[in-house]
Amino acid sequence: MGAVAHPLPPRTLPALRRALLTWFRAHRRTLPWREAPSLYKTVVSEFMLQQTQVKTVLPYFARWQERFPDFAALAAAPENEVVKQWEGLGYYSRARNLHKLARAVAAMPAPPRTAAAWQELPGIGPYTAAAIASIACGDRVACVDGNVARVLARLSADTTAFASGSDLVKHFRPLAAAVLEAEHPGEWNEAMMELGALVCTPRAPTCIVCPLREHCATAEPEAASAIPRLERPKTERLHVVRLWCVRDGRLLLHRAAAGSRRLAALHELPAAADLGLDDATVQRGELLLRRSRSITRYRIEESIHRAPTDIAARVGAEKQNSAAGAALHWVSLAELESITLSGPHRRWVRELLAHP
Ligand code: SF4
Repeated sequence: MGAVAHPLPPRTLPALRRALLTWFRAHRRTLPWREAPSLYKTVVSEFMLQQTQVKTVLPYFARWQERFPDFAALAAAPENEVVKQWEGLGYYSRARNLHKLARAVAAMPAPPRTAAAWQELPGIGPYTAAAIASIACGDRVACVDGNVARVLARLSADTTAFASGSDLVKHFRPLAAAVLEAEHPGEWNEAMMELGALVCTPRAPTCIVCPLREHCATAEPEAASAIPRLERPKTERLHVVRLWCVRDGRLLLHRAAAGSRRLAALHELPAAADLGLDDATVQRGELLLRRSRSITRYRIEESIHRAPTDIAARVGAEKQNSAAGAALHWVSLAELESITLSGPHRRWVRELLAHP
C-alpha cells in the first residue's frame, strides 16, 4: 500500500473553508435543482447524478419535474411509467429505487431530517444520505464521493494505492468530516464537489486558478494527476451477437425478467442465447450493425444480424416465456415508442428502421 498521509494542519482549516465557500458563491453553476431548491429536487438530482454527467441529466430532470413534481405525484405513478421517463439514462435500478423511496416518504408524517434516518430508506447509501440531509436539511455531515475523495487526496498529498473506488471513498471519510464547514454543511459539500468537477478534475487540474492552492500539499497539475492512486481492474472484452427480425410489421424483442438486477422489464434486441441459438447460427445472417460500448469494466462489442431465412421462419412464432419470466415479444413497429427500451437499443432500433 505504501501510504504517506499528510493530514491538513488544523490551524489552516478556517482559511481553507473561507476560501472555498467564497469561490463557490462566485463560481457555482446555475443548475435547475439549485434554483428554488426543495428536498424533492435534491433527492431527484442526487439519484440522477449517480454515475451520470450533469449535462446528460439536465433534460431528464426538466421532464421529470414536469411529470412528477413532488413525492406524492411520483409515489402515485405506475412503475412502468417511472421507468419509461428514465429511458436512456441507464442504471435503471435508480429509477425503481427512487420510486420506492417516494412511496416510503409519501407514507411518512414528515420526511427524515438526518443522514442516519435517510440511510434507512430504500436505495439510499451513505453518500446519498449525506448529500440529501446536508443540502436539504442542514445536517452537519460530510459527503464523500469520487470528486471529494480526489480533492482531499490531493490537498493532503496522500499517495495511498486503492484497490477500488469504494476503498478510496471510505479512506477519506474521516478527513472529510474533519474539514467540514459546520455552519453551512450543505453548501460546503456542494462546494467540494463543484471544485472536483470544475477545477480539481481527474486529468489536467487547473491548480493555477484553484482557490485552495495555497492550502494544497500537491498544487501542481502533473503531480496532482497521479493522485489518487487507483488500481484499475483489467478491462474484460465481451462479444454479443443479436438478431434483427421483423415480420408482418412487428419486431422481435426480448424483455428481461422483472427480477433482473440491471435491466428488469426493459426491452432489448434478442441475443442469440435468448433464442436458444449459438452465435454462429445468428452470424449466418447479414451483418447490419456493429457497435462497441463500455459498461463498468466490460468492453462490449455488439453485432446485430438480420435473421437468417430459416431462423426467421421459426423463431418467436408465439410469445415465449422462460422459467425466469423473461420473454420474447413481437412488438408492432407503430408501438415501439410506447415501450421501454434500454438507451443503446433505442438508438440501434431507430438506426436500423431508418435504413432497413
Ligand atoms: Fe486540486 Fe490543484 Fe487545487 Fe490542489 S491546487 S486542490 S491539486 S486543483
